[in-house]
Amino acid sequence: MIEDTSKRRPCVVVVGTGGTIASSAAVSTDFHNYDVSDSVEQILAAVPDAAKLADLRGIQAINVGSHKIDNSILLSLARCVSEVLVDPGTDAVVITHGTDTLEESAYFLHLVLRTTKPVVVVGAMRPARSLSSDGPLNFFNAVVTATTPSSRGMGVLVVANGHVYGARDVMKRDTTSIDAIQGSKFGLLGEVSGNAARFFHSPVQRHTASSEFDINALHELPQVDILFDHQAAGTHLCRASVDAGSEAIVVAGTGNGSLSPGLREGAALARDAGVVFIRASRTGQGIVAPLNSDAELGIITAGSLTPQKARILAMLGIACGKDADQLQQAFNSY
Ligand code: ASP
Repeated sequence: MIEDTSKRRPCVVVVGTGGTIASSAAVSTDFHNYDVSDSVEQILAAVPDAAKLADLRGIQAINVGSHKIDNSILLSLARCVSEVLVDPGTDAVVITHGTDTLEESAYFLHLVLRTTKPVVVVGAMRPARSLSSDGPLNFFNAVVTATTPSSRGMGVLVVANGHVYGARDVMKRDTTSIDAIQGSKFGLLGEVSGNAARFFHSPVQRHTASSEFDINALHELPQVDILFDHQAAGTHLCRASVDAGSEAIVVAGTGNGSLSPGLREGAALARDAGVVFIRASRTGQGIVAPLNSDAELGIITAGSLTPQKARILAMLGIACGKDADQLQQAFNSY
């Protein structure tokens, strides 16, 4: 018998991973020197109004600053969230996360969670008990979004500063400001208004339920490095990356992913070593258009993915055995 969920309060599982939203400083006016200190239960207890919207259950996946999240933590976080989502008693998931690498974790989850249930990633720029901390309201808005019916099927969402972004096109664009989390020109999907999220756009690239990637089939992720191009760049970092066993190199190129002579030489070096070479852009948004000169070096273009998102997709594609042509197709469709 199919359960009629409209007759019961929604159950939202809150997966804690750490970050500033779970941190505290010695004084309430220090916004920069702080440590992860709070459990997910403390985050829940600090926002009692969120429990009026749903039954909330906390799970502590890990408790670290997000700059410490490595590939094995990323995989186990995705496994943990996937298991929670499979439970018919779970209606939605909120993940509390540091903002530094939130965009990477959110996009990874967007690609590997086979679900239409709302999944919302949320962080904060100010520690939990600092003056005008943004954590409690961001968390409340994340629960609002997770319990809004139209959040279903939107893929992984990121809530910050009253806005709702799609995981694919969100990024941290400021070091410390309260509005650090922003969308590229494709990223803003909606806004939290009253006690609901209101959407004005939806993501059209493949994600979650329509993704081919399955967390249960993934055991480890390959090393993929990002190199930042600049005027007068050398080839030595490409060589070091190849020598260190990288299976793909993403270049944050200038403009339309243009390569300096040093990095172009690096692309040839990568091709000769069988390492995938991907052109992305350091500009932060826009589409890296293919060039006639890509074919001779077997270069892949990242489309509109930022270098850090391109790295996530490249890791997944390579882990699933994709060749260069299949990887390019993935860059065109995710
Ligand atoms: N360093 C913190 C982190 O990413 C920053 C934050 O959460 O805003 O964990």
